[in-house]
Amino acid sequence: MSRRPDTAATDPRFPFPHSPTRTSCQSQPTLFDFTNGDRTADRAATDKRLEQARKECSGCPLATDCLKWALVNKEATRVGVWAATTPGQRTDLRKRLADRLGPDWIDVLAAREKARRERAAAARHTPLSVSQARIVRLDREVNGPMPARSPLTAQQQQHNLARLVAGLKAA
Ligand code: SF4
Repeated sequence: MSRRPDTAATDPRFPFPHSPTRTSCQSQPTLFDFTNGDRTADRAATDKRLEQARKECSGCPLATDCLKWALVNKEATRVGVWAATTPGQRTDLRKRLADRLGPDWIDVLAAREKARRERAAAARHTPLSVSQARIVRLDREVNGPMPARSPLTAQQQQHNLARLVAGLKAA
């Protein structure tokens, strides 16, 4: 299975999230292969692979945007594990979104995304007020610069995985 989404077949309002480094699903694509009939072949082996793929997704910084992309782009994600979900789980999640937001839920999500991007852009272009700038300066003096983002620990990955699985069970 290719892990390079065919952008011609996907909704341009939801581009696949960009990563400066290779994601786990790009470096070991076969781990993320999955179709709904796979469990009939060797259930134990498939479940083990599925668990490993979900673990990789739980430590992936793209997981949230990847899930949104996978839900919106049904045709491009008929098979495979994307953001820790199987095709069957994505079908369930799409139904829940349609129940909550209506049959045009993709347009609703697109409008929300656009509004979010516009708010972020406006915030970037709005200079800090004098008092806000003072607080930022004081924070730097007292606490030093923000630490560089370090990779997730095994414990954090486990925590994220548990939250993902709990969320999927609730879906
Ligand atoms: S969340 Fe999983 S499927 Fe999505 S980009 Fe990351 S590793 Fe790949």
